[in-house]
Amino acid sequence: MSLGAEWMIDWVRTSAAVIADHRVELITLDREIGDGDHGENMDRGFSAVLAKLDDLPADALPADVLKLVATTLISTVGGAAGPLYGTAYLKAAGAVAGRVELDGGALAALLRAARDGIVLRGKAESGDKTMVDAWTPAVNAADAAVGQDAGAAAVLAAAAAAAEQGAVATEPLIARKGRASYLGERAIGHRDPGAQSTALLLRAAADVAGG
Ligand code: ADP
Ligand code: MG
Ligand code: MG
Repeated sequence: MSLGAEWMIDWVRTSAAVIADHRVELITLDREIGDGDHGENMDRGFSAVLAKLDDLPADALPADVLKLVATTLISTVGGAAGPLYGTAYLKAAGAVAGRVELDGGALAALLRAARDGIVLRGKAESGDKTMVDAWTPAVNAADAAVGQDAGAAAVLAAAAAAAEQGAVATEPLIARKGRASYLGERAIGHRDPGAQSTALLLRAAADVAGG
């Protein structure tokens, strides 16, 4: 099974709905170790994306959808997360340029490109208590699933589960990047909001694929 532009648009719509549903949760997490705006930032960005989806041409490719998300998030989200997610979606678009359908391997490559974009932009390493701690296990799980010949939906399901575990695993960490890094040991016991939004977005991808 492979997934095309229709799935991609569905993913984006579901992402917007899930982010809206979890707006308060993300705000609460960010209030504990940041400035309390992550839910609002993400909701503003994905609401803007939603409003632009209808402008896409009927023959839009998955990469065109990802590019629209990227440019919209960059121009509307602000803060740390806007440029980071914007870069992620832009690099993801580059990884699947020209493709009509995405199989498991293409989806794993898409996720890896997104993660690499975030690392390139934000210079966080694993264990720094950022969204990278959700993305990196997700990318590794997706690759492992591809290695076992998993289909598109199963690759996304593996990525989503790993991202969720990665987000939970940020709780005991001290932050070394972003606002939470000013808190030192006071960040211990709190989940990173960006890791949590990453887990939500990847779960939405898997759900929409039926994985
Ligand atoms: P801001 O911190 O500017 O208010 P947000 O609250 O929207 O922006 O986003 C905060 C999230 O951004 C953090 O929870 C973390 O996951 C992520 N983040 C911050 N700095 C970095 C970085 N250098 N690399 C990766 N992710 C980062
Ligand atoms: Mg914030
Ligand atoms: Mg802020």
